[in-house]
Amino acid sequence: DDLLDVRELVVRYGSTVAVDRVSFGLRAGETLALVGPSGCGKSSTATAVLQLRRPAGGEVWFDGRELTGLDERALRPLRPAMQPVFQDPYGSLSPRRSIRDAVAEPLRVQGRWDRATGPARVAELLAVVGLDDRVHGGRLPHELSGGQCQRVGIARALASEPKLLVLDEPVSALDPSVRAGVLNLLADLQEKLGLGFLFICHDMALVRHFADRTAEMRAGRIERISV
Ligand code: ADP
Ligand code: ADP
Repeated sequence: DDLLDVRELVVRYGSTVAVDRVSFGLRAGETLALVGPSGCGKSSTATAVLQLRRPAGGEVWFDGRELTGLDERALRPLRPAMQPVFQDPYGSLSPRRSIRDAVAEPLRVQGRWDRATGPARVAELLAVVGLDDRVHGGRLPHELSGGQCQRVGIARALASEPKLLVLDEPVSALDPSVRAGVLNLLADLQEKLGLGFLFICHDMALVRHFADRTAEMRAGRIERISV
């Protein structure tokens, strides 16, 4: 009944083994934090779970399907349900496209754009993350603060109606004064929508506050998972 079940995952870069037989499960509505020193394999695990880089070994079961054996064409309809949120709030947004376009894009790409209802859906998604379409919708990413852009990134992820968010240090690049607001938003969304969170984070105080379980990684392995 796990939303995500990762079994014996292996990620290699040439002869470097970045992730070495990592296994964990994650239920809907749960936050599993992935912690450990820089270079221990957290981002590589996240990238392989999302199938953005194909793992060298192991299995990734998501919502009852095993992903590693699927080709890109078979993966495409499954990808919307697993959405990344990255560290750099500006990195996932195109610098020349408006906030409104950034949130509309997943709807268009997934064939869910409707001229009659699309604009209202975008405004609604922006409202969910605390932004006002009339104020922020027409702006470009660099006209917003980092915290506001991270909210846009979250709205963009929500446009795909995900079941899992893979959050790779989502507040580490933000001004400390706006981190709590973004984290509270994520917690609210998780509660309302029953999302699973795979939450990469190096701030142990924050992990203790935010995570249901914590997986400690070192040198490509999970050393233990604690509640
Ligand atoms: P983090 O520790 O936050 O994951 P890094 O600075 O280690 O970030 O990595 C940033 C980017 O550089 C990632 O896309 C990662 O895949 C890539 N990267 C990290 N180490 C190497 C390396 N030895 N060779 C090539 N690319 C790397
Ligand atoms: P973390 O996210 O915990 O900082 P990463 O997954 O980024 O760790 O990196 C794990 C290991 O894989 C490190 O030794 C890193 O240098 C290496 N690595 C990451 N990305 C690449 C890449 N694109 N090419 C080569 N080595 C990489």
